[in-house]
Amino acid sequence: MSKYLGSVCKLCRREGEKLFLKGQRCDSPKCSFERRSYPPGQHGQKLPKIKDYGRQLRTKQKSKRIYSILEKPFKNYYTKAAQQKGVVRENLLTLLERRLDNVIYRLGFANSRLQARQLVTHNHFLVNGKRVNIPSYLIQLGDVIQTREKSRNVAVIQEALERSEHRGTPDWLELDKEKQEGVVRTFPNVEQLAIDLQTQLIVELYSK
Ligand code: SF4
Repeated sequence: MSKYLGSVCKLCRREGEKLFLKGQRCDSPKCSFERRSYPPGQHGQKLPKIKDYGRQLRTKQKSKRIYSILEKPFKNYYTKAAQQKGVVRENLLTLLERRLDNVIYRLGFANSRLQARQLVTHNHFLVNGKRVNIPSYLIQLGDVIQTREKSRNVAVIQEALERSEHRGTPDWLELDKEKQEGVVRTFPNVEQLAIDLQTQLIVELYSK
Protein backbone atom coordinates (compact mmCIF):
# COMPACT_ATOMS: atom_id res chain seq x y z
CA MET A 1 0.00 0.00 0.00
CA SER A 2 1.38 3.39 -0.95
CA LYS A 3 1.25 6.58 1.05
CA TYR A 4 -2.20 8.22 1.11
CA LEU A 5 -2.06 11.65 -0.51
CA GLY A 6 -5.76 12.57 -0.53
CA SER A 7 -7.80 14.60 1.94
CA VAL A 8 -7.36 13.27 5.48
CA CYS A 9 -10.84 14.51 6.35
CA LYS A 10 -12.24 11.94 3.94
CA LEU A 11 -10.64 9.28 6.14
CA CYS A 12 -12.75 10.44 9.11
CA ARG A 13 -15.87 10.39 6.96
CA ARG A 14 -14.98 6.90 5.71
CA GLU A 15 -14.58 5.61 9.29
CA GLY A 16 -17.75 7.35 10.47
CA GLU A 17 -16.08 9.25 13.28
CA LYS A 18 -13.66 12.05 14.01
CA LEU A 19 -10.08 10.76 14.01
CA PHE A 20 -8.56 14.17 14.87
CA LEU A 21 -5.97 14.10 12.10
CA LYS A 22 -5.77 17.84 11.46
CA GLY A 23 -5.17 19.30 14.89
CA GLN A 24 -6.68 22.74 15.36
CA ARG A 25 -9.24 22.39 12.57
CA CYS A 26 -10.72 19.26 14.20
CA ASP A 27 -12.10 21.31 17.13
CA SER A 28 -13.50 24.04 14.91
CA PRO A 29 -16.76 24.35 12.96
CA LYS A 30 -14.66 23.90 9.80
CA CYS A 31 -14.32 20.18 10.57
CA SER A 32 -15.62 18.33 7.49
CA PHE A 33 -17.10 15.55 9.59
CA GLU A 34 -19.27 18.05 11.49
CA ARG A 35 -20.72 19.20 8.20
CA ARG A 36 -20.88 15.87 6.34
CA SER A 37 -20.79 12.88 8.63
CA TYR A 38 -21.54 10.34 5.91
CA PRO A 39 -18.89 8.45 3.87
CA PRO A 40 -17.45 10.21 0.81
CA GLY A 41 -18.45 9.27 -2.72
CA GLN A 42 -21.59 8.89 -4.80
CA HIS A 43 -23.11 6.21 -2.58
CA GLY A 44 -21.84 7.66 0.67
CA GLN A 45 -25.25 8.42 2.12
CA LYS A 46 -26.53 4.84 1.76
CA LEU A 47 -25.95 2.84 4.93
CA PRO A 48 -23.62 -0.08 4.10
CA LYS A 49 -24.24 -3.54 5.59
CA ILE A 50 -21.11 -4.46 7.53
CA LYS A 51 -20.42 -8.07 8.47
CA ASP A 52 -17.70 -9.55 10.70
CA TYR A 53 -14.90 -9.31 8.15
CA GLY A 54 -15.93 -5.75 7.30
CA ARG A 55 -15.84 -4.74 10.97
CA GLN A 56 -12.39 -6.27 11.40
CA LEU A 57 -11.10 -4.56 8.28
CA ARG A 58 -12.57 -1.18 9.21
CA THR A 59 -11.04 -1.37 12.70
CA LYS A 60 -7.63 -2.10 11.22
CA GLN A 61 -7.97 0.74 8.71
CA LYS A 62 -9.11 3.11 11.43
CA SER A 63 -6.11 2.22 13.61
CA LYS A 64 -3.69 2.71 10.73
CA ARG A 65 -5.26 6.08 10.01
CA ILE A 66 -5.22 7.27 13.61
CA TYR A 67 -1.51 6.46 13.96
CA SER A 68 -0.72 7.23 10.28
CA ILE A 69 0.96 3.91 9.63
CA LEU A 70 1.07 1.98 6.36
CA GLU A 71 0.04 -1.66 6.04
CA LYS A 72 3.45 -3.34 6.21
CA PRO A 73 4.76 -1.59 9.34
CA PHE A 74 1.33 -1.96 10.94
CA LYS A 75 1.43 -5.72 10.40
CA ASN A 76 4.95 -5.75 11.85
CA TYR A 77 3.52 -4.22 15.04
CA TYR A 78 0.96 -7.01 15.17
CA THR A 79 3.68 -9.66 14.69
CA LYS A 80 5.74 -8.09 17.47
CA ALA A 81 2.69 -7.87 19.75
CA ALA A 82 1.93 -11.55 19.15
CA GLN A 83 5.49 -12.51 20.12
CA GLN A 84 5.36 -10.61 23.42
CA LYS A 85 4.04 -11.99 26.70
CA GLY A 86 0.52 -10.95 27.65
CA VAL A 87 -2.64 -10.17 25.70
CA VAL A 88 -1.95 -9.50 22.02
CA ARG A 89 -4.60 -6.81 21.57
CA GLU A 90 -3.23 -4.87 24.54
CA ASN A 91 0.38 -5.35 23.43
CA LEU A 92 -0.54 -3.97 20.01
CA LEU A 93 -2.11 -0.81 21.39
CA THR A 94 0.82 -0.27 23.77
CA LEU A 95 3.33 -0.61 20.92
CA LEU A 96 1.43 1.93 18.82
CA GLU A 97 1.29 4.35 21.75
CA ARG A 98 5.02 4.01 22.39
CA ARG A 99 5.92 5.50 19.00
CA LEU A 100 7.81 8.74 19.46
CA ASP A 101 5.46 10.74 17.20
CA ASN A 102 2.48 9.57 19.29
CA VAL A 103 4.25 10.43 22.57
CA ILE A 104 5.07 13.92 21.26
CA TYR A 105 1.38 14.35 20.43
CA ARG A 106 0.24 12.96 23.79
CA LEU A 107 2.59 15.31 25.64
CA GLY A 108 1.00 18.22 23.77
CA PHE A 109 4.05 19.31 21.75
CA ALA A 110 1.96 18.91 18.57
CA ASN A 111 -1.68 19.34 17.61
CA SER A 112 -1.89 16.05 15.75
CA ARG A 113 0.21 12.94 15.19
CA LEU A 114 0.92 14.06 11.63
CA GLN A 115 2.29 17.36 12.92
CA ALA A 116 4.26 15.47 15.58
CA ARG A 117 5.80 13.28 12.90
CA GLN A 118 6.92 16.33 10.96
CA LEU A 119 8.40 17.97 14.05
CA VAL A 120 10.31 14.78 14.90
CA THR A 121 11.76 14.45 11.41
CA HIS A 122 12.80 18.11 11.56
CA ASN A 123 15.03 17.34 14.56
CA HIS A 124 13.16 19.31 17.22
CA PHE A 125 13.38 16.68 19.99
CA LEU A 126 15.87 14.89 22.21
CA VAL A 127 15.32 11.54 23.91
CA ASN A 128 17.54 11.13 26.98
CA GLY A 129 19.66 14.03 25.71
CA LYS A 130 20.21 12.57 22.24
CA ARG A 131 18.64 13.84 19.05
CA VAL A 132 16.09 11.40 17.62
CA ASN A 133 14.40 12.08 14.28
CA ILE A 134 12.68 8.74 13.72
CA PRO A 135 8.89 8.97 14.27
CA SER A 136 8.56 5.22 14.82
CA TYR A 137 11.24 5.19 17.56
CA LEU A 138 9.82 3.20 20.49
CA ILE A 139 10.16 4.99 23.80
CA GLN A 140 11.20 3.03 26.90
CA LEU A 141 10.24 3.34 30.57
CA GLY A 142 11.91 6.35 32.17
CA ASP A 143 12.81 8.00 28.86
CA VAL A 144 13.03 11.79 29.02
CA ILE A 145 11.71 13.57 25.93
CA GLN A 146 12.41 17.26 25.54
CA THR A 147 12.55 19.95 22.88
CA ARG A 148 16.02 20.95 21.75
CA GLU A 149 17.35 24.21 23.16
CA LYS A 150 17.05 25.97 19.82
CA SER A 151 13.50 24.65 19.29
CA ARG A 152 12.09 26.02 22.57
CA ASN A 153 10.61 29.08 20.89
CA VAL A 154 9.25 27.38 17.79
CA ALA A 155 5.78 28.90 17.42
CA VAL A 156 4.11 25.63 16.36
CA ILE A 157 5.31 23.85 19.51
CA GLN A 158 4.41 26.71 21.85
CA GLU A 159 0.97 27.08 20.32
CA ALA A 160 0.38 23.31 20.50
CA LEU A 161 1.35 23.30 24.20
CA GLU A 162 -1.21 26.03 24.88
CA ARG A 163 -3.93 24.36 22.88
CA SER A 164 -3.31 20.90 24.34
CA GLU A 165 -4.21 21.98 27.88
CA HIS A 166 -7.82 20.90 27.39
CA ARG A 167 -6.63 17.41 26.35
CA GLY A 168 -4.51 17.01 29.48
CA THR A 169 -1.49 14.73 29.86
CA PRO A 170 -2.21 11.00 30.11
CA ASP A 171 -1.42 9.30 33.44
CA TRP A 172 1.44 7.29 31.98
CA LEU A 173 3.34 10.44 31.01
CA GLU A 174 4.53 13.40 33.05
CA LEU A 175 4.94 16.83 31.51
CA ASP A 176 6.94 19.79 32.75
CA LYS A 177 5.54 22.50 30.52
CA GLU A 178 8.04 25.16 31.59
CA LYS A 179 11.02 22.96 30.75
CA GLN A 180 9.20 21.51 27.70
CA GLU A 181 10.12 18.09 28.97
CA GLY A 182 8.19 14.84 29.37
CA VAL A 183 8.98 11.59 31.20
CA VAL A 184 7.57 8.13 30.50
CA ARG A 185 6.31 6.90 33.88
CA THR A 186 4.68 3.63 32.80
CA PHE A 187 3.61 1.99 29.60
CA PRO A 188 -0.03 2.76 28.86
CA ASN A 189 -2.69 0.16 29.41
CA VAL A 190 -6.00 0.03 27.57
CA GLU A 191 -7.94 1.72 30.40
CA GLN A 192 -5.58 4.73 30.34
CA LEU A 193 -6.07 5.37 26.64
CA ALA A 194 -8.77 7.77 25.60
CA ILE A 195 -9.24 5.93 22.35
CA ASP A 196 -12.05 3.74 21.09
CA LEU A 197 -10.24 0.93 19.29
CA GLN A 198 -11.39 -2.66 19.41
CA THR A 199 -7.95 -4.10 18.73
CA GLN A 200 -9.34 -7.60 19.31
CA LEU A 201 -10.94 -7.31 15.85
CA ILE A 202 -7.50 -6.61 14.34
CA VAL A 203 -6.11 -9.68 16.07
CA GLU A 204 -8.98 -11.76 14.64
CA LEU A 205 -8.32 -10.38 11.17
CA TYR A 206 -4.58 -11.06 11.15
CA SER A 207 -4.83 -14.46 12.80
CA LYS A 208 -7.03 -15.93 10.01
FE1 SF4 B 1 -11.33 14.57 10.86
FE2 SF4 B 1 -10.11 16.70 11.86
FE3 SF4 B 1 -10.87 16.67 9.28
FE4 SF4 B 1 -12.67 16.85 11.25
S1 SF4 B 1 -11.10 18.35 10.71
S2 SF4 B 1 -12.82 15.54 9.46
S3 SF4 B 1 -11.77 15.50 12.82
S4 SF4 B 1 -9.32 15.36 10.25
